[in-house]
Amino acid sequence: MIKSRDIRKKFLDFFNEKEHAIVPSAPMVIKDDPTLMFTNAGMNQFKEYFLGNKAPKSKRVTDTQKCLRVSGKHNDLEEVGKDTYHHTMFEMLGNWSFGDYFKKEAISWAWELLTEVYGIDKDIIYVTVFEGSDSDGLPLDQEAYDFWKAIVAEDRIILGNKKDNFWEMGDQGPCGPSSEIHVDIRSAEQRAEIPGASLVNMDHPQVVEIWNLVFIEFNRKADGALEKLAEQHVDTGMGFERLSMVLQGKTSNYDTDVFTPIIREIETITSSEYGVNEQTDIAIRVIADHVRAVAFAIADGQLPSNTGAGYVIRRILRRAIRYGFTFLNQKEAFIYKLVDTLSKQMQEFFPELKKQKNIIYNVIKEEENSFLRTLAQGLLLLDTVIKENKGSEIPGDKAFELYDTFGFPIDLTALILQEKGYTLDQEGFKAALEKQKNRSRAATKVETGDWEILIDDPVEEFVGYDLLKTPVKLTRYRKVESKKEGTMYQLVFNITPFYAEGGGQVGDKGYLQSSNGDLVYIVDTKKENNLIIHLAKHLPENLYETFTAVVDSNQRERSSANHSATHLLHQALRSVLGDHVEQKGSMVRSGYLRFDFSHFSKLTSEELSAVADFVNARIKEHLPLEENRQTPYHLAIENGAMALFGEKYGDVVRTIKFGDSIELCGGTHVKNTRDIWHFIITSEGAVAAGVRRIEAITYDTAQEYFTTQSETFQRVKDALKGNSADPLKAVMTLQEENAALKKQVEQLLKDKAKGLKTELKMSLESINGVEFLATEVDLDQGSIKDLAFELGSEYDNLFLLFGSNHNGKAMLSCYISKDLVKDRDLNAGTIVRELGKLIQGGGGGQPFFATAGGKNAAGIPEALKKAKSYIQA
Ligand code: ATP
Ligand code: MG
Repeated sequence: MIKSRDIRKKFLDFFNEKEHAIVPSAPMVIKDDPTLMFTNAGMNQFKEYFLGNKAPKSKRVTDTQKCLRVSGKHNDLEEVGKDTYHHTMFEMLGNWSFGDYFKKEAISWAWELLTEVYGIDKDIIYVTVFEGSDSDGLPLDQEAYDFWKAIVAEDRIILGNKKDNFWEMGDQGPCGPSSEIHVDIRSAEQRAEIPGASLVNMDHPQVVEIWNLVFIEFNRKADGALEKLAEQHVDTGMGFERLSMVLQGKTSNYDTDVFTPIIREIETITSSEYGVNEQTDIAIRVIADHVRAVAFAIADGQLPSNTGAGYVIRRILRRAIRYGFTFLNQKEAFIYKLVDTLSKQMQEFFPELKKQKNIIYNVIKEEENSFLRTLAQGLLLLDTVIKENKGSEIPGDKAFELYDTFGFPIDLTALILQEKGYTLDQEGFKAALEKQKNRSRAATKVETGDWEILIDDPVEEFVGYDLLKTPVKLTRYRKVESKKEGTMYQLVFNITPFYAEGGGQVGDKGYLQSSNGDLVYIVDTKKENNLIIHLAKHLPENLYETFTAVVDSNQRERSSANHSATHLLHQALRSVLGDHVEQKGSMVRSGYLRFDFSHFSKLTSEELSAVADFVNARIKEHLPLEENRQTPYHLAIENGAMALFGEKYGDVVRTIKFGDSIELCGGTHVKNTRDIWHFIITSEGAVAAGVRRIEAITYDTAQEYFTTQSETFQRVKDALKGNSADPLKAVMTLQEENAALKKQVEQLLKDKAKGLKTELKMSLESINGVEFLATEVDLDQGSIKDLAFELGSEYDNLFLLFGSNHNGKAMLSCYISKDLVKDRDLNAGTIVRELGKLIQGGGGGQPFFATAGGKNAAGIPEALKKAKSYIQA
């Protein structure tokens, strides 16, 4: 049986021999295309070439591309596991011609590869050809038909409509007819019974499309018309797992060696068997498939999260967890255990899996654990909801409760309900969600007055990158009342040096100065619907004059230092920890900075030092700010600028560069990294599964930090007096001496107690068959008790009364052997209570041991004297 890795290799070698350059797979996670989260076809990375935006390095290219079809136009998620030939993540083998060869070569090479190199039986192959479209005025793709006719019998050529056989990238852009290759892998009997041709494109699991050859020759214009392209291209895609199924003589992708190692591992871990029960099989297929998708996504730097692409990945993993939980009875995390097998199997061709194995392993494990907790709670609740429900539809507000309090995903609730034969009131859910939003809106209600327009010109120019002080005119203002802040005024100017809060950075503070010297303080600056709004406690007296707007330069400098340091920190983390580090949140204040990023484990002190050293090294290099306010977005990205996932960027962006750190950013920065002065990490911790947080200080806060530290140090040195030459050694010597002294003291006390015991034994008086002693001892309470019990263990007719005056507290402790308690009806508790009065105190305990504490130590001798009366009576 041919191994799948040889199947992949043969494909690439075949086209390489035909002068195709072998190129690597593009990342599966797309970060710079707002229309696409994940690569869903081999052509994605070559889009630019078809559009003519960029010239390809090579006119013929071949590769295997990691694809993920779980969102957007191509979403196979619901099929996966239920059928045997759709995956979330799969490899697409492809060959491309960019304005080079066309239909003839594409068709004949595909045939040659399938039948001669791979040796697929010609009798099981069907091909499809575009039949033409009236609406587009396109005829049958005669060219393709003729090329096929020269190779295969005409009854194997099936005509397909625009939906199946005309491929378009989107509403506009390059497009053209396609020709698909299908295989019929049913048994000979089945094939004799029903002809394969009638099953093509009919969702039959053993009559499946394996290869799609797209001939790009048109451009779809905005008005819907097609124009012939100057160049013609070939774009083909063959499912690697489906091809393996055919070549390995299997009837399911999951029976190929692409999947069997993982499936065996799942069987072992979960003590289940594949191929016995359909429901178990689906669960096993779901898990085998999803672990691949999730592992490859994480390797590409996309951690599971609550938003965007991260949320899609989280949902894929949760789907797998849920199937394992329900159908394989897995109540504990187990999917992460598959990572090892997966990485071993794929690492040869996809080394990123091996490189990032630990991250993948840990992230999946953490995700599993946290979701299992949610799941257990949610499922219980859902069961109750179902039990208490009348009818087959579950109300939306119940599902909302699960969603709101347990983070139970609504699609999961719907899925579970569907399996149990219930439906979900989706509308009711949406309504409940909306209601909640309204409630929270009401809670934070502010009363905003109408804008008073002074100058009717909405253009407000921001000049704060260059100026901190400028003459301004008030164009509009309004009054805002809120519970939290009382009455405030929002001011808008024609021009402003104030930076409005954004990109994590706080808004500027400062003041407006009138010609008569009056000041109006600006306490914060925010952005709203593109207006820069300045918040003030009151209005200037004369609204129409020209004011001098002055930004608090100190606060600005400190924020700028922290913002620039944040970029360097981002770069440092990626350099020290790896490319999986992605910004998850950032806060730049004047006093400190806070940076959240994806990473699975606590940073070691070595890592933290390495990060801080990296940033400080950039500060020392005195890197100048290279700012470009007008970079076309794609150019910025091409130049390696770091854009944040989930951020919306315009066509033209501002780039901030310090050395090798380039980010898209609208914030304010230092002119040179030396102005950051120094970078100190003050804390590191976890925010969520897989997300860490670093807080740090720079500039004058760092200076203050050093000053305080050195003052404290000076005080330590002073306290050490003569020993201050090497204070560290002095402190350590002190600690050592202290430990030695402690030991000595303990030993002395022990010896003392031993001596005392012997002494006391000699002082015992025999009275009425009782060994009696009443005396004062200089011991603490614990030692007195120990001593009493030690003596007690040597006699069974002992009566002891100890008086002590330790640390200013008078104490009486009475011990009476158990035999005496019984035979003579003595009770230590009663005795100390009575004698306690003499020391102005009280106490109690048990009949054989009791203590009393009091204020009057002078009463102790009296009490001791009285003790004898208890046994004489
Ligand atoms: P299908 O109709 O079977 O879903 P498709 O028309 O969506 O296939 P294309 O978009 O033409 O497929 O993709 C090219 C090739 O990629 C297909 O011929 C098939 O071999 C493979 N392929 C497509 N989707 C998947 C998937 N979800 N899992 C595995 N392989 C796939
Ligand atoms: Mg499809």
